[in-house]
Amino acid sequence: MTAIATLGSHCALQVLKGAKDEGLKTILVCEKKRERLYRRFSFIDEIFLVDTFAEILEQKCQSTLQQNGAILVPHGTLIAQMNSEQIESIKTPIFGNKWILRWESDRIMKEKLMHEAKLPVPKAVANPRDIDKLVIVKRQGAAGGKGYFLAANEEDYHVKRNKLISQGVITKEESLYIQEYASGVLAYLQFFYSPIKDELEFFGADQRHESDIEGLARIPSKEQIKTDKVPSFNVIGNSPIVLRESLLDEVYTMGDNFVDAAKRMVAPGMNGPFCIEGVYDENAKFTAFEFSARIVAGTNIYMDGSPYYSLLFNESMSMGKRIAREIKIAKELKQLDKITT
Ligand code: AMP
Repeated sequence: MTAIATLGSHCALQVLKGAKDEGLKTILVCEKKRERLYRRFSFIDEIFLVDTFAEILEQKCQSTLQQNGAILVPHGTLIAQMNSEQIESIKTPIFGNKWILRWESDRIMKEKLMHEAKLPVPKAVANPRDIDKLVIVKRQGAAGGKGYFLAANEEDYHVKRNKLISQGVITKEESLYIQEYASGVLAYLQFFYSPIKDELEFFGADQRHESDIEGLARIPSKEQIKTDKVPSFNVIGNSPIVLRESLLDEVYTMGDNFVDAAKRMVAPGMNGPFCIEGVYDENAKFTAFEFSARIVAGTNIYMDGSPYYSLLFNESMSMGKRIAREIKIAKELKQLDKITT
């Protein structure tokens, strides 16, 4: 028997619905406070209740997953709530490459992999003293944009950082990552790489809606100036974007380069879903400020299939279903070890 398991948050509904559609058993590791929500969905076969997601490391949860032959699909919540050592110590087979998740969480490693993939990355600023143009200041890990802030110079940086510390949003000890601000049209490029077929698929693109930077953009500058709140980039939701077709060739090249770089830097490579996140400027030049080495929540907008997947599959295919399909194919070919770690 093969089951698909995931944590109850982020894109769990999409992942488990896709698994059910592919005829696989579905298991949700669910915090008690969310039980009522997830019981509404009949495609979830089994709910394993926990007080906190860290219980996934405990024997009881791991043996339930093992008895069901479960493969765990990692998503943003796993990365946000567990450190890399904890994730790497999970005994249940993880879909994709669990070792690359460390490269997603650690800003320095992340930057290294992005350079290796020849992605055009905004310049990192090592010291607040060196801020000479608009920068964005980020926290470590998958913070979801919470506690991020913009700074125009060193003084601005310290004023805002101190303010966030006094509000308890960030801590004094926290090391922050400073990067030049890239302005343009947001595009989060979603891919799937199949090591079974050795093929890269472009799934779709999305934009994030972030509060309260987006709220601020909706009021006239006269009012903006009067607010002294440090606006955050906390993700609230996503919406679709379809790219100019002339941009697609470069999109595939970026995806291919990323897959190649991951193969060289972190075995067994970038298997399964991933996302390259950035902006297009006025010359349609892309700058990538981030990647996610697993399914992103932005794929939730295409639960019934994306425009680009409708070109590749003659059926509705979500990213969750694509993951389940890969697992089914790998199982038939007795190559599950190729797609899990
Ligand atoms: P991240 O956690 O790096 O994905 O950043 C969260 C959000 O901050 C993104 O969705 C963007 O809106 C914004 N952002 C991050 N880095 C940059 C950058 N270098 N330039 C402009 N916006 C950025």
